[in-house]
Amino acid sequence: MVNDCIFCKIAAREIPSNFLYEDDDFIVIKDINPHAPVHLLIIPKRHIRSINDLQEQDKELVGSMFIVAKKMAKEQGVNESGYKVGFNVEKGGGQEIFHLHLHLLGGWKK
Ligand code: 5GP
Ligand code: ZN
Repeated sequence: MVNDCIFCKIAAREIPSNFLYEDDDFIVIKDINPHAPVHLLIIPKRHIRSINDLQEQDKELVGSMFIVAKKMAKEQGVNESGYKVGFNVEKGGGQEIFHLHLHLLGGWKK
């Protein structure tokens, strides 16, 4: 838990938010400013600033993030139509919240 980190506060339920999914390691929420009909954020509960801060021992966590993304895509009904997943890394990469999160975007009309 890092002070003044909004995603730490959301994960700790200090800021109310609707979790679409939760397990020991992750929460999934809707992006507050969606860039697609389906725009979810897969967020590890543990504070990691960005991809730059990943360590060897985070391999399993990162792999699990994609498994959660795959499950959420199916649950949201975009698995067959298709979707994008991605990380913004640091300011130049468009990162605004410096707590690691995986974007899942989909649901565009064909
Ligand atoms: P970034 O640009 O850091 O990769 O993405 C941060 C994302 O978090 C943005 O798409 C932004 O709309 C979203 N966001 C920022 N604050 C909140 C919040 O308080 N709640 C939710 N659900 N999303 C947020
Ligand atoms: Zn944090």
